[in-house]
Amino acid sequence: MHKDPNTLWEEVSLHLKESLPKDIFDKWIAVIQCQSVVEDNVTLVVPNDYYQSWLVEHYIPLIKKALATVSGREFLVSLAVDYSLLSETEGKKEKKERPHPFSSPKRGKEPKINLNKHYTFDSFVVGPANQFAHAAAIASAQAPSRVYNPLFIHGGVGLGKTHLMQAIGSFILSKKMRGKICYTTCEAFLNEYIDALQNNLLSKFRKKYRTVDALLIDDIHFLAGKDRLQEEFFHTFNAIFENHKQIVMTSDRPAGELSGLTPRLVSRFEWGLVVELEIPDMETRVAILRKKCDQLDLSIDPNLLFYIAERVSSNVRRLEGALIKVASYVSLTGQDMDRSKLEYLLRDTLDQEKKHAISVENIQKTVADHFDLRVGDITGRRRPQNIAWPRQVAMYLSRTMTDLSFPVIGEAFGRNHATIVHACQTVKKRQTEDITLQQTLSLLRQRIGHSAQKKNSSF
Ligand code: ADP
Ligand code: MG
Repeated sequence: MHKDPNTLWEEVSLHLKESLPKDIFDKWIAVIQCQSVVEDNVTLVVPNDYYQSWLVEHYIPLIKKALATVSGREFLVSLAVDYSLLSETEGKKEKKERPHPFSSPKRGKEPKINLNKHYTFDSFVVGPANQFAHAAAIASAQAPSRVYNPLFIHGGVGLGKTHLMQAIGSFILSKKMRGKICYTTCEAFLNEYIDALQNNLLSKFRKKYRTVDALLIDDIHFLAGKDRLQEEFFHTFNAIFENHKQIVMTSDRPAGELSGLTPRLVSRFEWGLVVELEIPDMETRVAILRKKCDQLDLSIDPNLLFYIAERVSSNVRRLEGALIKVASYVSLTGQDMDRSKLEYLLRDTLDQEKKHAISVENIQKTVADHFDLRVGDITGRRRPQNIAWPRQVAMYLSRTMTDLSFPVIGEAFGRNHATIVHACQTVKKRQTEDITLQQTLSLLRQRIGHSAQKKNSSF
């Protein structure tokens, strides 16, 4: 029976190499490493999310079969992402030798810092939506703690917050400026804090974080609603700040909009410079795709790049995901890509985009128009029946046509979470027995969908 994850994976990998075309093996299988084999569970790791999603979608059954063939038994396979593999993968191309999955890159005495090697200023495409944030990040990296402290970067999901923050870290490291840099996510910070509490290692934990020269803390919105963590972070923040060391934070919202964040932290987060990453425009999106193609050594018809950039507009991570899908399809099938194939291949992505483009405001407006009301009636507090019902319809459509949660929708209507839940249940129940309502809802959905599309293509 195999005990060593490396040996087992070597064999599986050899088996797959024999049964797959070389370019596919090189592109999709060679990057995989085996992290552990525990009983029936094999954990594989890959360097980024694209590999993960593509492999899960297309190769897991094959990998399972290969595992069974090689070992004579069935395994459950899970696939995780380990960004630190990126650097190893690159080195491997020439060295051929597979580094041990647990060994971390040798860096002498420097503390281990898990920065994604690809998240640099060089690979960050600058456009009107991010140039201010980019300039601020560069300035902070060049003169940590001297220009903008703290630097607070906020923006929606997949717009480059982590990339920019890690670029600061890598830049400081590359200049070999002396000092200790710490990059962590707020969630990892919490976990470490809890560990420290449990194991009586609080003073060590505090020393570690309070004596850094630069603290890069990602996804700080995670603090919201966690009082003890906020308390701890408050002291961490003060210690670093008073030592005149750099703090960089990212958040999915401006500090003032994070509900459940203590005012003293909100005000501290706004002491330095607050910058926002917005959705990149069409030209920037095409430029990002081109850059990605260069990095991944992909050659794709420029018209397709343009088309992808046009259709996937709200999230750079999704944009890159779409590119990888297209590139993989072309490489796997050897077929040319045309628009209808592209639509089909990217159907899930395009669906997500549509959902994004539909906003609650848009729904409120369309519903108000339909029932001959003002938007203020829909969001207001008055309760006459002629308003209450359209309002419930708008709440129901907001829930079913967007990805937003009940509390977020509640906020948009100035109501609590329970009111939205109730509205959704009421409308859902009524429509099963009311054909006219079904028709109304379908008409409203069409109108809302149309206006979102218009908004999408109007750059
Ligand atoms: P966030 O942290 O805001 O959710 P990330 O920093 O993880 O987003 O970015 C998502 C993906 O998009 C990453 O792969 C990142 O490299 C890429 N990306 C985002 N903005 C840019 C940009 N301006 N130029 C190049 N790549 C970008
Ligand atoms: Mg991030």
